[in-house]
Amino acid sequence: MYDSDSDGLHAARAELVSYSARLLDDGLAVGSAGNMSVRSGDLVAITPSGISYAEMRPEDVCLVTLDGTEEQNAETPSTETPMHLAIYAATTAGAVVHTHSAEVIALSAAREELPAIHYAITGLGGPVRVAPYVRFGSDGLAAAAVEALDGRSAVILRNHGAVTYGRDLAQAYDRALLLEWLARTYRLALSYGEPSLLSAAELAEVTAESRRRRYGERRSTHQQRRP
Ligand SMILES: [Zn+2]
Repeated sequence: MYDSDSDGLHAARAELVSYSARLLDDGLAVGSAGNMSVRSGDLVAITPSGISYAEMRPEDVCLVTLDGTEEQNAETPSTETPMHLAIYAATTAGAVVHTHSAEVIALSAAREELPAIHYAITGLGGPVRVAPYVRFGSDGLAAAAVEALDGRSAVILRNHGAVTYGRDLAQAYDRALLLEWLARTYRLALSYGEPSLLSAAELAEVTAESRRRRYGERRSTHQQRRP
């Protein structure tokens, strides 16, 4: 969650511009495709529609209220604004990243989900569902994405792309990279034949162990700070 004061919004806009440039460098989108947003209190800062990432400036980033009312923007907010707002309404997201990443789109055309090829998928909540195809920019796509996100921080949109969210833009973006890596790893595994996959019990064990280790780290940090 970002601060809702003007400093917080300024930082959010600058961060959106720098991560948007990374989207192209990391191969997660081409041209002006894909979009991202951060929540700042009751406002959502979202990338504008139709501006190339190379030309985007912080002041081009649009502001929209959580109920979809536009603030006074020079540019038009992303066509996928309804999907971003639906995700903020349904989850604890502080930032949302929507990509048109090649590995994920290829998988979406042939599979119902990205299965557990590696235990890192627990970072996304488990196997990632493929939501049915619905036209870009529609309320139907927003609803399909939210439904398929249940218990997950990532969803694949059939013949379209992917959406990830996180507590901030850095985490949402890292999850988009993780999703792309998992899809590529799964495709490589398929080239050898039928891959073995992790079971729900094995994933639950990984999640429990990760929690235990994070708890241990917090405790040791806390103890070190004591005089
Ligand atoms: Zn899209």
